[in-house]
Amino acid sequence: MSTASPSDGSLTGLRALVTGGASGIGLATAQTLLAGGAQVACLDLDPAGVTEPLIGIRCDVADDDGVPAAVAEAAKRLGGLDILVNNAGIGAQGTIEDGELDQWRTVFDVNLLGIVRVTRAALPWLRRSTTAAIVNTCSIAATAGLPRRALYSASKGAVSSLTLAMAADHAAEGIRVNCVNPGTVDTPWVQRLLAAAAAPDVEREALRRRQPIGRLVSAQEVAAAIAYLASPAAGATTGTALAVDGGMQGLRLPPP
Ligand code: NAD
Repeated sequence: MSTASPSDGSLTGLRALVTGGASGIGLATAQTLLAGGAQVACLDLDPAGVTEPLIGIRCDVADDDGVPAAVAEAAKRLGGLDILVNNAGIGAQGTIEDGELDQWRTVFDVNLLGIVRVTRAALPWLRRSTTAAIVNTCSIAATAGLPRRALYSASKGAVSSLTLAMAADHAAEGIRVNCVNPGTVDTPWVQRLLAAAAAPDVEREALRRRQPIGRLVSAQEVAAAIAYLASPAAGATTGTALAVDGGMQGLRLPPP
């Protein structure tokens, strides 16, 4: 049995595609997979932050026509695909009464249908791999009942269900499908939210205290979990959600 971890070269020879790979969790994941020995292509709306040897490809995961071409370009440049990380996502705040219905359509178009488009285009390539793995970036919001996150939570709940359904459908052909459920992660996304808030220091403190470990999660910690699930070391793991949330969901501690 292999005891290799993704940081020690156990991904050598594998070819990975990461969506939303130009920032935050996606960029950290691409760098972690690269450090583990994989070749990595990143699809992103704005791939400017993706530098060699990572391959950056401009793509909107909400674009029906653009996605198949971008996935094919990535697979051709990598010489195939073994790993798909469906990470691109956008946020939304508010209750079910907030936001126009078009905002609900837009968030689902990226967070849920983006995964459908990219995965449909990637599956023919993944089927040629002997170690195929898909990891979806879900969220603690899928299961935690967070206030004022109705749309975002619903979109990630759909990702959670889709992950299980995909795992069931593709297990027999050797394609594993898992997801990660991050808590609040210190990425440009969260930094933008804090900058827009009236009292960012208070907000940051509230976010920090919400997680029993008493700090935000780092993008690298989420990336390490994704890299593990994507690696052959996790060969018997499919249809599961790995929480990387500072104990937020599992511990149910009162706030410190
Ligand atoms: P981020 O904003 O730092 O990075 C997201 C990247 O996705 C950006 O590079 C952006 O250009 C790209 N992107 C957005 N829409 C896209 C589209 N339509 N097509 C292609 N690329 C697109 O965000 P992050 O915090 O790293 O979040 C990444 C994922 O992690 C998202 O799915 C998010 O829901 C999830 N997540 C984040 C947190 C958190 O606290 N940061 C917590 C739980 C889950």
